[in-house]
Amino acid sequence: MDIEELFHHLEDFERPYVSRQRNPFLVLIGGILSTRTKDEVTEKALKRLIEHAPDLKKLNEFPVEKIEELIYPVGFYHTKAKKLKMLTKTLLEKYKGKIPQKLDQLLSLPGVGRKVATLVLSAAFDKDEICVDTHVHRISNRLGLVKTKNVLETERELKKVIPQKHWKEINSCFVTLGKRFCHPKRPMCTYCPLKNTCHYRRRAASSAK
Ligand code: SF4
Repeated sequence: MDIEELFHHLEDFERPYVSRQRNPFLVLIGGILSTRTKDEVTEKALKRLIEHAPDLKKLNEFPVEKIEELIYPVGFYHTKAKKLKMLTKTLLEKYKGKIPQKLDQLLSLPGVGRKVATLVLSAAFDKDEICVDTHVHRISNRLGLVKTKNVLETERELKKVIPQKHWKEINSCFVTLGKRFCHPKRPMCTYCPLKNTCHYRRRAASSAK
């Protein structure tokens, strides 16, 4: 597969709201809110939360119930509100209110998994990381870029086949592709800009003959 051509097809795609942010606080909080939540819902919840709590210190002053109210209806809003409370406390006490820039430090924070940590590093700190979520995992396998069983393997294998200059953009490109065409069930291959190079599409076409 021609990787440059692949990214050329995707370059005009609008990026998800959280990936377009450059402020580490916004990307971190937005990344946590976005798990199991539609982008439109995440965007509204993040904007509402930031309007009331524009920084870590202010957010830390809110009780869990208030955070819950502001982020509702994101998925698992009750658990996420509790994690956000723990997260702000930890960042203020341990990191003087700064978002750390190392993967292991980010992973040690409450509510922060690998997906959110790599999103913060790539989107907010401009570091060469690949943020692999379910969209990136599914699409990378369908396209034939990798043949993997889980997100961690996908991240590792993608780093071998995708030039480093594209690592940061894979997540936002594939998330948009996943929302518009490459749905988990019934992908809309006929309209997809990658249909001529996609393994899944080729296999489906040849088995239909
Ligand atoms: S051609 Fe189909 S399976 Fe392949 S990336 Fe596009 S939508 Fe997904």
